[in-house]
Amino acid sequence: MKSSWFATALYLAFAPPVLADALFDFYQQLHANPELSHFETNTAALLATELRKAGFQVTAGVGKYIDGSQAHGVVAVLQNGTGPRLLIRADMDALPIAEETNLPYASKVTSTNAAGQQVGVMHACGHDLHTTTLLGTAREMAARRSEWQGTLVLVGQPSEETLDGAQAMLRDGLYQRFGKPDMALAMHVSAGLATGVIGVYAGATHAAVTSIDVTIRGVGGHGAAPHRGKDPVVMAAQFINQIQTIVSRNQDPLDPAVVTVGSIHGGTKRNIIPDEVKLELTTRAHSEKAMNIIVAGIQQAAEGIAVSNGLPAERKPIVKIIETETGPANINDKKLALKVKAAITAALGSDRVNDGFPIMGSEDFARYSLQGQQIPTVLFNVGVIPAGLLAQAKAGKVQVAGTHTSKFAPEAEPAIQAGVQAMTAAAIDLLQK
Ligand SMILES: [Zn+2]
Ligand SMILES: [Zn+2]
Repeated sequence: MKSSWFATALYLAFAPPVLADALFDFYQQLHANPELSHFETNTAALLATELRKAGFQVTAGVGKYIDGSQAHGVVAVLQNGTGPRLLIRADMDALPIAEETNLPYASKVTSTNAAGQQVGVMHACGHDLHTTTLLGTAREMAARRSEWQGTLVLVGQPSEETLDGAQAMLRDGLYQRFGKPDMALAMHVSAGLATGVIGVYAGATHAAVTSIDVTIRGVGGHGAAPHRGKDPVVMAAQFINQIQTIVSRNQDPLDPAVVTVGSIHGGTKRNIIPDEVKLELTTRAHSEKAMNIIVAGIQQAAEGIAVSNGLPAERKPIVKIIETETGPANINDKKLALKVKAAITAALGSDRVNDGFPIMGSEDFARYSLQGQQIPTVLFNVGVIPAGLLAQAKAGKVQVAGTHTSKFAPEAEPAIQAGVQAMTAAAIDLLQK
């Protein structure tokens, strides 16, 4: 009798905590039923219901897009005495990708995108895992409220992939209605870390993005009489080549930057010189200085090519920044990052925590810190790729499907467990009694 009691106690003390089935069920449900940015109706409702059950005061339908439409943001507050206000954010939206993972809970969902096309929908960026981790953290924090004091504000954010979800929530008075946080945390899955390993980078984790549409205008005409027109196809080719030198010749090589032309459209038929060619560009940079150089370089190249081709002033190219797809770099506050890293290390052990690494992708979590990083924020990563597979990939033997691909298959259950443990440890540390 005594020995079995002792064995049970020993087991409870040293066995790794097993993820509550209910939490993994919740994850599978989200994964199998992904919703595109701006359309997270059911995901938001599910999260709101579960957060209410966990004892939080929940407000749904928080967020206003720039066109005035309502966003599906969820805000859950747990007040627990006096102390700092900590915001924890998880994003909820999925991507227009047809899933090819063969997982038992793979998505078979299709939906209509903004252009009216039928597209597959998949949680290919792990936002289902983030939402599940937020719920797990909510339950832990509610159960362990004797260990902390302050106010916990949990945010289920829509539309991260379209980069307008955080802004929509701030525009709808997130900080006025639920209080301006003293600090904010978020996590993101990483296909560059082994499952359950946490990476905390102290510095700029994600690049700023500026989306730019360029219309190169010419003077259309017959394909057999190019001398009577001004060919925008040739000018577009010159423009694309010239902007390759912005990063390679104008930008400090130690300050990363990217210029990509992702789309080019012009013309209807081989023997007609069109009036214009339209290009869509994405540009990335970690520093404001680099972004200014890129944007100025694109403007100069477009105008210079028009001048050198003898275009009249009224046919100058149009360079337009697409504000809804533009955002600042995400910068982890150094002091807060070190504090968070120490708290997670104490909970998970030093072999499961590292310094992380920056990427050129973008994250609208940056918005929560407000302009000029008024509010210290930290976004840390949770690895989701089995350690053996990752080692093989690093040795160049296999390719691991990363985020935003149809075969991205995170090792979800242990990653959620690590995410919940890490986020809870950080939150309790920051809301110390
Ligand atoms: Zn993504
Ligand atoms: Zn993401």
